[in-house]
Amino acid sequence: MAAITPRMNTSQASRKPGVVAPTVARPVVTAPPPSVPPPGTLPSAPISNWNGEVVSKPRAVYTPVRDAEIIQIMTSEKKVRVSGAMHSFNEQLFVDRDTALINMTHFNRVGEPQRLAGGSATIWVEAGALVKDVSTALHRHGLALENLPSLEYITVGGAIANGVHGSGLTSPATLAEQVIGMEVITSAGEKKVVSEAELPVYRINLGSLGVVTRVQLKCVPDFDMVTNDGKIVGEDAVVAALEHKRLLADVGAQQSVTYFFNPNLADPTKTTLVSWGMTRATAEQSRAAEGEGLQRKVNYDGRGSLGTFAVFKAYERAANATGASASEVKAFLRDRFQPRERRIGRSALMYQMHLDHPSHDVSYGVPLERAQEAFVRVMKKMRELNYEAPIPMGMRFLKGTDKTLVGMNSGRDVAVFEIFTSVLFDDTTTGALRDDVKAAHEAFEAIMIELGGRPHWAKEFFVNPRSRHDPRAWQRFATESAAVGGKLVNAWAKQMTPAGGA
Ligand SMILES: Cc1cc2nc3c(=O)[nH]c(=O)nc-3n(C[C@H](O)[C@H](O)[C@H](O)COP(=O)(O)OP(=O)(O)OC[C@H]3O[C@@H](n4cnc5c(N)ncnc54)[C@H](O)[C@@H]3O)c2cc1C
Repeated sequence: MAAITPRMNTSQASRKPGVVAPTVARPVVTAPPPSVPPPGTLPSAPISNWNGEVVSKPRAVYTPVRDAEIIQIMTSEKKVRVSGAMHSFNEQLFVDRDTALINMTHFNRVGEPQRLAGGSATIWVEAGALVKDVSTALHRHGLALENLPSLEYITVGGAIANGVHGSGLTSPATLAEQVIGMEVITSAGEKKVVSEAELPVYRINLGSLGVVTRVQLKCVPDFDMVTNDGKIVGEDAVVAALEHKRLLADVGAQQSVTYFFNPNLADPTKTTLVSWGMTRATAEQSRAAEGEGLQRKVNYDGRGSLGTFAVFKAYERAANATGASASEVKAFLRDRFQPRERRIGRSALMYQMHLDHPSHDVSYGVPLERAQEAFVRVMKKMRELNYEAPIPMGMRFLKGTDKTLVGMNSGRDVAVFEIFTSVLFDDTTTGALRDDVKAAHEAFEAIMIELGGRPHWAKEFFVNPRSRHDPRAWQRFATESAAVGGKLVNAWAKQMTPAGGA
């Protein structure tokens, strides 16, 4: 086999050689996001994740388009890490100078769906395919993924590795749960088809159980959704809305819903909860809604979404140009989170928002029945610290699952609380989190942990989450890691997981 070099030109990358079943070639729909190293990246060029916080200089950067290249890399390189769209927040993408990086965004073909009885289907996709391209392709076949994350410019491989999620209690809300087949290439450069019994370990693999090359996803017939937003004003009313039965009734009635809390520390009567929800509509309900004048969103490739919310970048430019003060930025950002105009659209447009602005994000899944208590405790702490986040605190919902072992919702229903800040609020001299923001994020995390929370693997956390998960799950993880080999296990994975025998 001819040796491959890390340098690969664009014509090589875009040439799509014949594909072995089960993948069927399909043209690339979307260019990778700007955070991704382009084909031909010099081995010495530094690469960084999406918000520019994690910078490393890999020994080499590869952008393979077929299995043989990955096999060659795995057999010739001593240490390797894989990346997708590089939208993770923490050090999981950090690679030492002795480590090669395989960027998968050109390994991105989307197959033809295979129809099953009853209208559902399955589809094989390459792990570097963007979620956006998969859902658009499915839409063209009259199919859909049942639940989607809010960000679509991420790869399927990166999303499943971290347990990336949308929201909702009526469908599997993490992409990993929608995976029913998987192929990986091991440290020894061997192809492995993951068995059904092994899938729960491999679905959320944290980038450490071999290079995922292909996944088979379960799809459902495409469906319409109608936005269904709400607003509750006053902190007492917000707390009452989080009472367990009330919460279940509200969230259970929707396909997908995100709550945004906009606390007013000085005047609790002005604290608000805005919910951005979407309900599933039958063809008949859709016709009726359109008859009543509801606008239908039909834009797929130009992308709109039922909940498009792409104001951050524009605002950042304006703020930089005019030197807007932090309080103005904060007022502007928080004010955007209001009930939206009602709309109808196909499921591929369920993305709730497009928050692609460099930010910090701490996100924890706590047992759903403790959601009210969590909110009350966070509010109390934020009052003590006199800290009002510039972006409202978010809350999403995940049904418990036995399909993954180390997810926030493995084995229990959870409410996912998310506290954000924009990098606009970083310390202007050091570029690091400001002290008050750090203190608030750490206090938030401490409350989440006390309530039995587990962090989102892709986000920021200050406490090692390893002990938040069942030791038996880690036992299985360690066994699989030993079987596929530890070449992908970087310092982050060594600390956070038992991969590589740590
Ligand atoms: C603006 C923004 C919005 C977001 N919204 C959401 C959201 O709605 N819901 C949510 O849950 N998360 C969300 N996230 C988090 C984001 O979805 C995750 O960070 C996700 O893992 C990123 O996917 P990626 O393709 O960028 O993967 P990367 O960040 O490149 O990689 C993630 C991990 O997967 C591993 N990996 C990637 N590909 C492979 C492969 N083929 N084989 C083996 N390992 C692999 C990497 O080594 C790494 O450990 C958001 C992030 C941002 C920046």
